[in-house]
Amino acid sequence: MERRGFLKNAGLASAAVAGPLLVTEKAQAAKKVHWKMVTTWPKNFPGLGTGANNLAKLIEQMSNGRITVKVYGAGELVPAFEVFDTVSRGKAEMGHGAAYYWKGKDETFQFFSTVPFGFNAAEMNAWLYHGGGMELWREAYDKFGLIPMAAGNTTVQMAGWFNKEIKSLADLNGLKMRIPGLGGEVLQRAGGTPVNLPGGELFTSLKSGAIDATEWVGPYNDLAFGLYKAAKYYYYPGWHEPGTTLECVVNKEAFNKLPKDLQSIVLHASRIVNQDMAAEYTARNNASLQVLLNKHKVNLRRLPDDVISELKKISKDVVSDLAKKDAFAKKVYQSFESFRNDVTAWHDIAERSYLNARQS
Ligand code: CA
Repeated sequence: MERRGFLKNAGLASAAVAGPLLVTEKAQAAKKVHWKMVTTWPKNFPGLGTGANNLAKLIEQMSNGRITVKVYGAGELVPAFEVFDTVSRGKAEMGHGAAYYWKGKDETFQFFSTVPFGFNAAEMNAWLYHGGGMELWREAYDKFGLIPMAAGNTTVQMAGWFNKEIKSLADLNGLKMRIPGLGGEVLQRAGGTPVNLPGGELFTSLKSGAIDATEWVGPYNDLAFGLYKAAKYYYYPGWHEPGTTLECVVNKEAFNKLPKDLQSIVLHASRIVNQDMAAEYTARNNASLQVLLNKHKVNLRRLPDDVISELKKISKDVVSDLAKKDAFAKKVYQSFESFRNDVTAWHDIAERSYLNARQS
């Protein structure tokens, strides 16, 4: 009965407005939108840059060409670390990067990329999509006129490239290392000097001795930059970046001008790239590690347990100190911390037990 009534009313309604609606829909469909996407990555860089390209391509394909997105590598339109401001000001409609690059705007942003000893990739997505994280991220970027989307994940990273062995925490003292985000603050408290540089500057900086050590991502990306040619030791695990979310930021005004179906395409294309990039890293990292070990004879080292446990202690302080910054930081921290407690309890039973059981 209800359904019939609804259909009847819908029929009447569409009969009454069919003309103007169709014209509007046609006009909307015909109107092509041309967007620019600025990125923090070298153009076409494996995984990160190609992920941004895939996002642009998907949006174009899914919209049947109603939106085109032209992708710019770091430095092509603006330098890497101006992506956030450029999209915020509407000079480009989209950007691809990582939230911790913008900690100068608000340190709380770092929760939305990665936290030392925090979430892995699957947990990060669980928190963002089903644990309230995405709502907080949107709130954080709203006053900058930006809508954030998760658009890629590196999975667990490597601890980085060093020219001396790390045998105790004291070996980090005085070390000038490229390490972004909260991991950098942990290094600072351990006596080191963190610097942040865009990926494209790492090799030269390490080779020239401008920095003593660097982390970048993992074997797939580190091999691409040739970092093994500039450092002796390759350390794991990436305690500082256990599952870094890459972001797509969209200018809110530009987004709101899109019809609903195109908005949905932009959101869902990001979601596809978010999952796809994590799969790509998982698939490529091992093969690249084998090339690093077998062809380039890289010295692979695990950070000693006591160094890891010291870093964990410092990380806990760094993150809880950040929560004291303001009410919003506290709110994000509480959401993050409560989700971490829950997911850790479950993953101790599920993922950890399984990985231990499967161990080669
Ligand atoms: Ca990194």
